[in-house]
Amino acid sequence: MRYLVTGGAGFIGSHLCDKLIGEGFKVICMDNLITGSLDNIRHLVKNKNFIFIKHNVSNKINIKGKLDYVLHFASPASPVDYLKYPIQTLKVGSLGTYNALGLAKAKKAKFLLASTSEIYGDPLVNPQREEYYGNVNSIGPRGVYDEAKRFAEAITMAYHRVHGVDTKIVRIFNSYGPRMRQDDGRVIPNFILQAMKNKPITIYGKGLQTRSFCYINDLIDGIYKLMFSNVNGPINLGNPEETQILELAKKIVALTRSKSKIVFKPLPEDDPKVRCPDITKAKRLIKWHPKISLETGLSLLLSS
Ligand code: UDP
Repeated sequence: MRYLVTGGAGFIGSHLCDKLIGEGFKVICMDNLITGSLDNIRHLVKNKNFIFIKHNVSNKINIKGKLDYVLHFASPASPVDYLKYPIQTLKVGSLGTYNALGLAKAKKAKFLLASTSEIYGDPLVNPQREEYYGNVNSIGPRGVYDEAKRFAEAITMAYHRVHGVDTKIVRIFNSYGPRMRQDDGRVIPNFILQAMKNKPITIYGKGLQTRSFCYINDLIDGIYKLMFSNVNGPINLGNPEETQILELAKKIVALTRSKSKIVFKPLPEDDPKVRCPDITKAKRLIKWHPKISLETGLSLLLSS
């Protein structure tokens, strides 16, 4: 079995490569390294079942030989990154997904799309079920990511319906763990770095907005289950333990015994007010639920 992971040198992609190599698959990891890093896969490069190819999947993908699965994880994924690379984000979600699907079709491989809770935008219902259509500002700063992923879902379903490709879509909610870039701007690495240096913890807005944080091991476990399921519709994967950002800041200060003070900064445009996955489908269809609480996950991350 030979699998391609696009974005394989990124945070989630590299953990997925680890899992697949651990399960005995051959893995081709493809990444253009704009937000991914070779440091994330350095431990794998000597493995005879692992190959790294530096390539931007927004351009045509050529792979010689057979391929059994295309797992499309390439994309800038943190708000700071997709604001820095708006056009690359739009291209990898659209052209990159088109190229990855074309490859899966040509190779008669299965296909899995890494989608996102961002497709729900600033949701008007909470928690979010897969049936909710979302509330996205197409022309706002986050639109580049949200709309690219919405297009990616649409073309994935079209390839499933028209060409019969066996496709899966995972809607990934906020996830965290080792290998997140310290400077990727996301809330957990930001707060941990600030707390460790006893620098002010920067809360955007009043900190009353909520997120639900899933530890990477739980997420990978869910993705793996979805890969081998017969589910073709989108599946939410995330931890339904909803936390206010202010509460998260206090937790991290306590866990790190930091002397940091909390400071309040302007809320970024279109920052969702709530976000929490309804995981009824994941529980029912792929028998998955997260096992690692936020407290445990943060401790694991801090000791990694
Ligand atoms: N946030 C914050 N301080 C930071 C970084 C982020 O208060 O230093 C907030 C951000 O405004 C958002 C939440 O934390 O409401 C989660 O942000 P993140 O960038 O991690 O991911 P998002 O869920 O917005 O994609």
